[in-house]
Amino acid sequence: MTAGRAELRYSPLIILGLLATLVLVCALWAMDRSRAGNDSQGTAQGTGASVEGIRWKMVTTWPKNFPGLGRGAETFARTVGEMSGGRLVIDVYGAGEIVPAFGVFDAVSQNVAQAGHGASYYWKGKIPAAAFFTAVPFGFTATEQNAWLHYGGGLELWREAYAPFNIIPFAGGNSGVQMAGWFNRELNSVEDIKGLKMRVPGLAGEVWTAAGGTAVTLPGSELYTSLQTGVIDATEWVGPYNDIALGLHQVAKYYYYPGWQEPGPTLETIVNKQAFEALPADLQAIVTQASRAMNQDMLDEYTARNNAALRELVEVHGVQLRRLPDDVYQALADGYREVLAKQVAADPFLAKVQQSVEKFYGSVRAYHNISERAYMNAREKVLPPPSPLEQ
Ligand code: CA
Repeated sequence: MTAGRAELRYSPLIILGLLATLVLVCALWAMDRSRAGNDSQGTAQGTGASVEGIRWKMVTTWPKNFPGLGRGAETFARTVGEMSGGRLVIDVYGAGEIVPAFGVFDAVSQNVAQAGHGASYYWKGKIPAAAFFTAVPFGFTATEQNAWLHYGGGLELWREAYAPFNIIPFAGGNSGVQMAGWFNRELNSVEDIKGLKMRVPGLAGEVWTAAGGTAVTLPGSELYTSLQTGVIDATEWVGPYNDIALGLHQVAKYYYYPGWQEPGPTLETIVNKQAFEALPADLQAIVTQASRAMNQDMLDEYTARNNAALRELVEVHGVQLRRLPDDVYQALADGYREVLAKQVAADPFLAKVQQSVEKFYGSVRAYHNISERAYMNAREKVLPPPSPLEQ
């Protein structure tokens, strides 16, 4: 009974204590919920922070910082970094640093590297139509190639070609019209190319052989020695700005133009599909537009720098500038038709791409004949000669 009375006496205190505990527990729970809410917001911000940490590897087919071609990749990476405020950082690797030059396509396909820079015609062994997205003999100029890619259906076909390999391509630079190349003897007629051993890769090499020459494929690093030792009689590379860097004027005297083999070659920026799709929309747009900007920037650089290099080649090094004879040009054009007919018959996708090129070429030539060409012809009639370089 005493205990019962004591229970009665203390029970309000116990109830108050229990109530206080309950209030405390509720308060702690509410605080905890509130903190949890802040934490989840923090986690979201944390996810944002992890976006800031995206880092891609970009492998290239060029030596690191190679003038023009190689620096294009550096320009692209720097632009992406600047436009994204450092949210996407791209580290550029030269040929051989992670994969060899011709391992770039597979490395991006397998996401070993998330991006790559090179030229689509290097992959014509995997995709016969790939050459059309860089350049084909007697094909588009840089302006026309860009127009076909971006407004004539070319880029859609390029993406269709690369889709099975998990790669998204973008136009990634252009050298403009290249030179026909370096020859250790003069070409006076088509007879002079019979058996002439020339380094000229890809589709153009097949054309050179069809026209009576002998085509060889060699990497840029071997051109100087091969020409010097007589392994080859001639080579094409790019144009004055790049060719002077290789020292080709020291081992061949005659420098021929214009470059029938690569009139407006487009380089490529390639991106692994999953890596691209994992980016937020704004970073996808930055990658797309940074490549488009670099595509134009490289052409601007070549256009500006070829002039000084050509002048130095002729005036300082005594290089003999020559135009390809008309009958050589004609033999090469006939050779191209022959080679192309065989390729179109052998590969339905290549035939589809060629059809698109042919259609666009017809219309762009019609206007360029009365705009670009007509203007340049008219200009030459009224302005003083540009320089004494032309023979
Ligand atoms: Ca070339």
